[in-house]
Amino acid sequence: MNRVIKRSFIVILVVVLFAAGVFGYYFSLTLNGEGWMSYPANKHIYTNGVLTKAGAITDRNGVVLAKTENGTRVYNSKKSIRKATIHAVGDTKGFISTGMHSAYLNELCGYDAVNGVYNLSGKGNNLELTIDSSVSVAALNALGSYSGTVGIYNYKTGEIVCMVSTPTFDPNSNDTPSGKGVYVNRLLSGVYAPGSIFKLVTALSALENINTATTMHFKCNHGVTIAGEWLSCLGRHNNISLDSALKHSCNAFFAQTALELGRGDLTATAEKVGFNKSLKMDGIPCATSKYEVSDSNDIDFGWSGIGQHNDLVNPYQYLCFMGGIANGGESISPYLVKKITDANGRTIKKANRDSTKMMSEKNATLLASMMRNNVKLNYGDSRFKGLEVCGKTGTAEVGDKSTPHSWFVGFCKNEKTPYAFTVIVENAGAGNGAATRIAAAVLKTLK
Ligand SMILES: [Zn+2]
Repeated sequence: MNRVIKRSFIVILVVVLFAAGVFGYYFSLTLNGEGWMSYPANKHIYTNGVLTKAGAITDRNGVVLAKTENGTRVYNSKKSIRKATIHAVGDTKGFISTGMHSAYLNELCGYDAVNGVYNLSGKGNNLELTIDSSVSVAALNALGSYSGTVGIYNYKTGEIVCMVSTPTFDPNSNDTPSGKGVYVNRLLSGVYAPGSIFKLVTALSALENINTATTMHFKCNHGVTIAGEWLSCLGRHNNISLDSALKHSCNAFFAQTALELGRGDLTATAEKVGFNKSLKMDGIPCATSKYEVSDSNDIDFGWSGIGQHNDLVNPYQYLCFMGGIANGGESISPYLVKKITDANGRTIKKANRDSTKMMSEKNATLLASMMRNNVKLNYGDSRFKGLEVCGKTGTAEVGDKSTPHSWFVGFCKNEKTPYAFTVIVENAGAGNGAATRIAAAVLKTLK
């Protein structure tokens, strides 16, 4: 009898261990399956550690940006297209973590948690992107030898038509890519001092929190004294209003407006338009824009209101902010993947539409009209013929000896070209110079 009990016990133990093993394996597969699938030793999709078996990546017009041919991953035949789109498409070794080859690896290879890699023929899923390769090449050419980024998206639909980052490289070249941060997509992963483009946040906060915002005046005597320290302005603007101050980019006005608002209200507005948040583009995490003044003294807080002190801006966050102003306060989230189709051409995933209410329609309209005046008065409307561009430049100081970064942000009001844009050009001098010139060159290629 004892022997029977003992044997039964052993059988039960074996069954329990087997069940636990199956459960453990299943649990582990669910958790780690994607990681195992994309592990470079998996020869189904990788050859010698390089991604080879995945579907095609095309632009909005069907131009092939990358595809698998005879077991090899090949890019577009034109060097300019390869260089202009590599940060969006990604390299096959995974150095560009935000590129499609890394961020959408599972989708490209046709992986799902239930079936594993269900297509081993080398034909994964195809990604149709929203970018336009010819607009991207125009941005690459306009940036020239500068480091920087040009981001453009349709603020009514969310489609990103241009996402170019320099320095860049040709994935077909055997040379090791050179240039500082060559694998970084500056639109998604860069952060920069904003300079005067931050005045749009301070202006919006004034409209939201100060009843007399559109009629109030502050004094500017080539600057202003705050808490016994001097905050300089490039002009002597005397008694100046919000509308004029944005047109002339008056430091004294916006520093005093920041102090009038207080740290809490200005921070709240900044956070509503995307500061201090981890934004995502199509599920890909972006660098965070920072506005942090809780421990700042009055002069530093004054400087923060004009985009200096420790303010930091991620270009993608500003793209969303510009979209919010352009679209009556409602920012449609930009996206890059238009749709995913399987090897038989069936659509298996479409872009998710998402939006954020950033400001009231009234304040969006007020800001837009001030930005429109800005372009007419300062930047030369004829350079943006027919586009009805609304914009703001920024010149971001980056230490005493370096040439400042050049910013231009804004959007086209024309209904036929509903695009918002962010342009930053590193060490290129004043915003109304390199950045406006590059924006004009690229925007005129939009249809
Ligand atoms: Zn001034």
